[in-house]
Amino acid sequence: MQSRRVEHFVESVIRDMTRLALKHDAINLAQGFPDFSAPEELKRAAADAIMGDYNQYSITWGAKDLREEISRKAKEYNHITADPDSEVTVTCGSTEAMMASMLALVDAGDEVVIFEPFYENYGPDAAVSGAVPRFVPIGDDGSIDEDALVSAFGKRTKAIILNTPNNPAGKVFSRNELRLIADLCTDHDAIAVTDEIYEYILYDGREHTSIGSMDGMHDRTVTISGFSKTYSVTGWRIGYALAEKHLTSAIRKVHDFLTVGAPAPLQHACVTALRFPRSYYEELAGMYDRKRMMLYDALSAAGFECLMPEGAYYILTDIPEGTGMDDMAFAKYLVREAGFSAVPGSSFYNSKKGKHKLRFTFSKKDETLMAASERLARLHLPRD
Ligand code: GLN
Repeated sequence: MQSRRVEHFVESVIRDMTRLALKHDAINLAQGFPDFSAPEELKRAAADAIMGDYNQYSITWGAKDLREEISRKAKEYNHITADPDSEVTVTCGSTEAMMASMLALVDAGDEVVIFEPFYENYGPDAAVSGAVPRFVPIGDDGSIDEDALVSAFGKRTKAIILNTPNNPAGKVFSRNELRLIADLCTDHDAIAVTDEIYEYILYDGREHTSIGSMDGMHDRTVTISGFSKTYSVTGWRIGYALAEKHLTSAIRKVHDFLTVGAPAPLQHACVTALRFPRSYYEELAGMYDRKRMMLYDALSAAGFECLMPEGAYYILTDIPEGTGMDDMAFAKYLVREAGFSAVPGSSFYNSKKGKHKLRFTFSKKDETLMAASERLARLHLPRD
């Protein structure tokens, strides 16, 4: 009965693992969302907005004051000029921003370059828009095979999906890598659709670079971000897309008929978020750095080979040798027998490589990570 469009993908494995963790009363290190509170001031702003009667539709593409604050933030932090009236669209999370951008800009049969490992959603995003994905591997050391990247671009390339910092590998794209991608986009008249939702979660002194700020890229980049990760409000579903006005007008048409608009009172509260002092962002990155090391040490001690993330809040590991299980079987074994969940690697890979990988999140309270560490320390790896 289902359309051919949706036959091309399965339900989210990330969210499925969350449901499995709940069923088995396991610690959920699968889905990337905080189990700690959102900032008090932000919760108060949302409650005040509801009591202050911000309860009807906002303007379809976002409340004016929020678009103005986003435009200011984009200029200061991302070095991108985005006119609040014609180049900013507020969406239901960055998930909608990505899907709306793909539907608005990509035709069936167009090719879209995607780095692998990739965030699970990009597969369905490509499938629904009819795009043909061209995967370019990121090496285990975080390097990009430049030849593979260059040869992935061709006459039919319409866009490249970027994600920096990357989920699940934690790779932060360097300026040089982004310059190469920008040149390829210009040479092939392609658009960069860049998901920068983890833009404030960076480690070891790394800095965030937005490809949309680079020479020649303003008019051919859709920069996507949102409030979920930076302000620990994943359930609010407020994201946004910045793009040159013709691209924006296409994105807004899809957004309008998909969702009409993002929740009005929460948009109002997000204005407060964007006015937080610089120290907020430093503390956020510092907190995640500490959690990164807690989980990295616990996983390494339990025999998992881990990739040290440069940004975002996930650790991608190899499945220890000799278990005789693939990623799905091993993830299910962990939930049932060890009491914690992870995401099977094949959610992030088109190639078979994902079958040997798992992803853990550390966006959890220290107590949660400590409890998971204790369970990890007691883990007896099955041997075939
Ligand atoms: N981005 C988060 C993750 O990768 C949450 C995904 C989701 O369920 N929207 O786990």
